[in-house]
Amino acid sequence: MSSSGGIQIPGRLPLLLTHEGVLLPGATMRISVDTARNMQLVKSRLLKGTSLKSTIIGVIPNTKDPDHDSEELPTLHSIGTAGLAVQVVGSNWPKPHYTLLITGLCRFRVAQLLKERPFPLAVVVQLDQLEQLTNSPDGELGELGERFYQAAVQLVGMLDMSVPVVAKLRRMLDSLPRETLPDVLASMIRTTNKEKLQVLDAVSLEERFKKTLPLLSRQIEGLKLLQKTRKPKPDDDKKVLSVRKGRVFPIRQFSLDEEAEDDDGDDITLLERKVKGASMPEPALRVCVKELKRLKKMPQSMPEYALTRNYLELMVELPWSKSTTDCLDIRAARVLLDNDHYAMEKLKRRVLEYLAVRQLKSSLKGPILCFVGPPGVGKTSVGRSIARTLGREFHRIALGGVCDQSDIRGHRRTYVGSMPGRIINGLKSVGVNNPVFLLDEVDKLGKSLQGDPAAALLEVLDPEQNHSFTDHYLNVAFDLSQVLFIATANTTATIPPALLDRMEVLQVPGYTQEEKVEIAHRHLIPHQLEQHGLTPQQLQIPPHTTHDIISRYTREAGVRSLERKIGAICRAVAVKVAEGHKMSKQESSNHQQDQPGADEKEAGAEEAQRESADLSAPPEMPILIDPIALKDILGPPLFEMEVSERLTLPGVAIGLAWTPLGGEIMFVEASRMEGDGQLTLTGQLGDVMKESAHLAISWLRSNAKLYQLTNMSGHPDPMEGTDIHLHFPAGAVLKDGPSAGVTIVTCLASLLSGRLVRSDVAMTGEITLRGLVLPVGGIKDKVLAAHRAGLKRVIIPKRNEKDLEEIPAHIRAELDFVAAGSVDQVLNAAFGGGFPAAATTSPLTHPHLASKL
Ligand code: ADP
Repeated sequence: MSSSGGIQIPGRLPLLLTHEGVLLPGATMRISVDTARNMQLVKSRLLKGTSLKSTIIGVIPNTKDPDHDSEELPTLHSIGTAGLAVQVVGSNWPKPHYTLLITGLCRFRVAQLLKERPFPLAVVVQLDQLEQLTNSPDGELGELGERFYQAAVQLVGMLDMSVPVVAKLRRMLDSLPRETLPDVLASMIRTTNKEKLQVLDAVSLEERFKKTLPLLSRQIEGLKLLQKTRKPKPDDDKKVLSVRKGRVFPIRQFSLDEEAEDDDGDDITLLERKVKGASMPEPALRVCVKELKRLKKMPQSMPEYALTRNYLELMVELPWSKSTTDCLDIRAARVLLDNDHYAMEKLKRRVLEYLAVRQLKSSLKGPILCFVGPPGVGKTSVGRSIARTLGREFHRIALGGVCDQSDIRGHRRTYVGSMPGRIINGLKSVGVNNPVFLLDEVDKLGKSLQGDPAAALLEVLDPEQNHSFTDHYLNVAFDLSQVLFIATANTTATIPPALLDRMEVLQVPGYTQEEKVEIAHRHLIPHQLEQHGLTPQQLQIPPHTTHDIISRYTREAGVRSLERKIGAICRAVAVKVAEGHKMSKQESSNHQQDQPGADEKEAGAEEAQRESADLSAPPEMPILIDPIALKDILGPPLFEMEVSERLTLPGVAIGLAWTPLGGEIMFVEASRMEGDGQLTLTGQLGDVMKESAHLAISWLRSNAKLYQLTNMSGHPDPMEGTDIHLHFPAGAVLKDGPSAGVTIVTCLASLLSGRLVRSDVAMTGEITLRGLVLPVGGIKDKVLAAHRAGLKRVIIPKRNEKDLEEIPAHIRAELDFVAAGSVDQVLNAAFGGGFPAAATTSPLTHPHLASKL
C-alpha cells in the first residue's frame, strides 16, 4: 500500500469532484457519485473499458462549493489524489447513482485543465515521489517519522486487540513504510474534512508529519478521556463528544464498527430465524445457510454485504410453500363471469370448460389460454375474474417491449445492479406460489442481443420444465407448476411460433354498438360513478347519449376510450356537484360580502352556470347528460359520418381493413392524368398491397373492352398516355395485406368508367389475375366496422360466407351481404345498376368468364 513506491500515474487524468470527504493516498474510501459530471466520468471511464483495474482517476475534493451539480465547473482545488477504482456499484434508488470504492495512490497537482465537458480532464504532475524517508533515516525527518510511529503504536495499543481489524492494523504499522503513515492514519482517525484537506495539501513529507501528529495526539487524548469516563450509553457519548468539536473524538471507525456489529448481530440472527421459518426446499435452504455463514464473516462495509443480505431477504420472502386453496364451484364461476362481463359468450364458455376440466383433473398440464383481440375488449378483466373464481391471487406481468431474457429470468448476482426477473418478483409480491399470472401482450415481446425472452418464457410455461425454474439471480430452482398462466395479445401474427404452439388461442373480437351500450350501462358507468364518488342520483347518462358518445367520440373495437369519455363526464359533473355544495353552504351561512374573495367566487360560479345551462341543476336533482351537455363537456364530436361526402367523385371506394386494434373502414382514392402509363401508389403501402394494385390494373386492362373502359381520350387501353395515382388515406399508418384487392379494382373501375360507386357499400377480398376473389381474415371485425360506419351493403369473398355466423343476428339483419366469387360480381354489387351499366351484356353470362368461376 505504498503511496509512492513504484507507482507511475498517467500524465492526463479525468477528475472526479467529490464533496463528501478527502481521499488520501493509502486510504480506501467509498464515494457516492450522483452529479451529472461524475456520472459521465464513471460511465465512460470506469464502465466501458474491459478492465476496471487499469483505470486510474483523479479525485479532487470540492469542499468549498456546496452547489456541486451546477453547470459551471467550480474552481478546482489544485491538489488531488490519484485513485484506483476498485469497485463500481450502480443503483437507481432513490435516484440513479454509483458508489465507487477507491483506493488512493498518490498526490498530484493539476497543471492544466484540458476540457470541462462532459467531465473535467487535466494534465497532472505526480507528487509524492520525491522524498523517501529511507534516504535519510537519521535527519530531522527520520526523527519525526519515529515519533509519529510511536504515537501510532500507542493509539493502536489503546484499542481492543481482540477485534481482528485492530490486530491487522497493528501488524500493518510495522510493515508500512513510515512516510505513508501520516496519510493512512489521518484517514482513519476522526478528523474534519478541513483537517484532512490540510494533510492533503502538505506536499512535503516533513510538513505532513507535523500536520498529522497533533491530530494523532488529540485522538489519543480523546481515547484516554473516553476510557476514564465511560458512560453507560455509548449513544450519548457520541453526541457529547461530537458537540465539543475540535477537542476529543473517539476513533470513528472502530467505535462505529462495534456498534454496528451489535445491531448487525441482531439482524443476522433475525435473518437466520427467518431462513429457518421460510420452509424452503432442501437445496434452497442449503444455499441460504451457506450465504448466512459468509455474511457473518463479512465486515458490514463491504459492498458485497448488502448484496448478500438483499439476496437472503428475497429468499426468505419468497412463497416457497405458501399457497391459497382453490375454491372452485363451476356454477358460482359462471355467475361471477356473467356478472363481471356482458356479451363475449364464446370466450366465457371456453373459460368455464377450462375451469371445469381443471376441477375434475386436479393437475393441469394443458395448453395455456391466450386471449387475442383488440385493446379494451376485456382480456385482462376476464383474467382477473378467473383468479377471483378460483380464489387465487392475481398478478399481471407486462411483456410489451421486453427484449432481454434477464427481464424474465433475472441477472446473475455478479452483475452490477443485478436483480431477479419478473416471474420471481411477481411471486414475491403476491406472496403465494399458486397465483394467476397474466402475461400481458405476448405479441409485443422483442428480441435483442441479450438473448431471446421468448425462449425464457417457454421454459416458464412448459409444464415439463417449470417445476424447477431457475432464475439467474436466485440460482436455485423454484417450482412454478402451481402457477396458472394466462396470456393476452392483440394479434397472433407476432407471437413467436414456439410460444404460440403452447397456447390455445381464444379470439376476443370487438363489440358491436349495441353491446357497447349495454356494457356501458351495466359496468362502465356504475364503475366510473363509484370511482368519482358520485351516485346515480347525481348523474344520469341516458342510452341515446351513450350511443352518441360511442359513435361520435370514439372509434374503437373495445371500450377503453368509451370508459375514458365516461370518466371525463363524471369529472365534469363532480365539479358541478362540489360547486353546488359549496354554493348552498354559502347561501345558508351568513353572507360575508365584505370579504374580498366572496364576490369573485360567486362571479365564477355564475359564469360556470351560464356556460352550461344544462349542468346547473341544483345538486339534489340528477344532472342529465343530454346532447348539449355532452358537447359542452367533451367538445365538438371527433368523428362525423363522412361516408356519403367522400363518395361524390368517381375513383373512390370503401374497403375494410383489419388492424390489431379492430376492424376499420378505409377509403381508397384514385385519379388519372396524362402521362406514360405510370402507376403511383401512396399511403405507406407494403409490398403485398402494391402487388394487389398492379394485379387490379392488369385485370382491368385485360377486360377493358368488356367493360367499355377507355383512357381519357377514348383509347381502348385505359393506360394509354395516362398516369394513375392510387392513394390510401391515413397516410401515416403502414398498411399491408392482400384484402384490399377488390377495393382497388372497384375504385379503378369507377375512375376509368367515370361512374360513382354506391356510397353505402364496403368490401374486402383478395383478387387473382384471373379475376377470382379469394377469402381473407378478420371478417367479423371488418363487418362490425362497416356497421359502425353506418354502411348498408358489405361485399365479402364467397368462401368467407361461413364466418358470417359469428356476427350477431341483429347486425346481420341490418346489413346486406354480397358473397362474391369473382371480381365481376363485386363490381356488379358495388355500382348502382350493375357494372357495366345494365343495358350491356351481363359479364356473368360471358362464356369466357363463366368458365372460370
Ligand atoms: P384489454 O385487456 O382487452 O385491453 P381490459 O380488460 O383492460 O381490456 O378492459 C378495459 C375495460 O373495459 C375494463 O374496465 C373492463 O372491465 C371493461 N370491459 C371490457 N369488456 C367488458 C365486458 N364485456 N363487460 C364489462 N366490462 C368490460
